[in-house]
Amino acid sequence: MTSRNEELFAAAQRVIPGGVNSPVRAFRAVGGTPRFFAHGSGARVWDADGTAYIDYVGSWGPLILGHAHPAVVQAVQQAAAQGLSFGAPTAAEVELAEMLCRRVPGLEQVRLVSSGTEATMSAIRLARGYTGRSKIVKFEGCYHGHADALLVKAGSGALTLGNPSSAGVPDATAAHTLVLEYNNVAALEAAFRRDGAAIACAIVEPVAGNMNLVAPNRDFLAALRALCTRHGALLIFDEVMTGFRVGPQGAQGLYGITADVVTLGKVVGGGMPLGAFGGRRDVMASIAPLGPVYQAGTLSGNPVAVAAGLATLELVAAPGFFDRLAAATRALTDGLAAAAREHGVVFSAQAVGGMFGIYFRATPPQSYAEVMQCDAAAFKRFFHAMLARGIYFAPSAFEAGFVSAAHGAAEIEQTLTAARHCFAAMT
Ligand SMILES: *Cc1c(COP(=O)(O)O)cnc(C)c1O
Repeated sequence: MTSRNEELFAAAQRVIPGGVNSPVRAFRAVGGTPRFFAHGSGARVWDADGTAYIDYVGSWGPLILGHAHPAVVQAVQQAAAQGLSFGAPTAAEVELAEMLCRRVPGLEQVRLVSSGTEATMSAIRLARGYTGRSKIVKFEGCYHGHADALLVKAGSGALTLGNPSSAGVPDATAAHTLVLEYNNVAALEAAFRRDGAAIACAIVEPVAGNMNLVAPNRDFLAALRALCTRHGALLIFDEVMTGFRVGPQGAQGLYGITADVVTLGKVVGGGMPLGAFGGRRDVMASIAPLGPVYQAGTLSGNPVAVAAGLATLELVAAPGFFDRLAAATRALTDGLAAAAREHGVVFSAQAVGGMFGIYFRATPPQSYAEVMQCDAAAFKRFFHAMLARGIYFAPSAFEAGFVSAAHGAAEIEQTLTAARHCFAAMT
């Protein structure tokens, strides 16, 4: 019997490349048919066949309040009824900018855009325009959206210039991007010693969440901060994923480090297309119309997206919100690790605020190379076994997972019960 998911996927593949509008949705890493979602509520989603799942993807991070939170839906409905877009300033976007500047360390001015990619792409241009330099530093395994300068992987040799990680990115563009190993302070020091005067900025995921989850060791972010300052380069924290996800002040607050420029997305849009980049006033003064760095957007500051963002950020400001979220996420990862241990499966897991990593490896990885040592076949089996029991994890071993405020003790327990069965079947 063909399921509705299968029918839809077949239809999608005829008119959409790979049947999806963003590649990881295609289930290529795990095989099988992507689930087409019909609706969501709280911690749960329902697919086209009416099957329910507890969702640990949360639209890849934005849905920190769970699906279709009533307050967010109402804010969106009210804003939509007033007009979908004006291409002119609105009061609500000022309110959101004020809220971001109040809550995000180091943010004196901020500009709203429509995606995380736009935020990081614009931040890089800003850093280059502000410093008058061309080179940028990024870290292997970190993802900063799909702009040319950032789709770069390490070349051969520890300190060689980057190579494009996508067809269509000119070598000349990639050549300005230095790709270094995450958590490797010695490599960082060497790169700045050699190229410091030419480096416009370093961009980093302060908790890496696009190569599964790799947590920073404290020395790494502190060394990065110090080297950028010493060499006159801007430090860009790409908090598109970690902002309002790992804590009320993002990774900056968690690790006590203030960047020069911060990029935001995902949670700040509450599930609508919205991103932001901001930083020190003197740096932001380089942006048009104040300065020479051009940046613009027809739908930037879109009133419906801004309404969803405002409603979401108001709710995450509730006292104890992030403590409860972190505790639920820890209960999940501790429970999964205990279940794996019971059944002798080589496995580890860790949580940072409301995001988590699960690894078919004895200890959490520290770098992209260590992520690559995880047992991909074991992940695939676990993913499908959990899916069959109504638990939706990211369909790739290279993505972080997300818990929302709607994931309560019952949802976590249901997940752990499923996991015990799945781990048992793996031995
Ligand atoms: C998701 C993500 C982006 C890209 O955001 P989009 O909204 O998908 O363009 C950039 N940086 C990080 C760290 C992300 O997690």
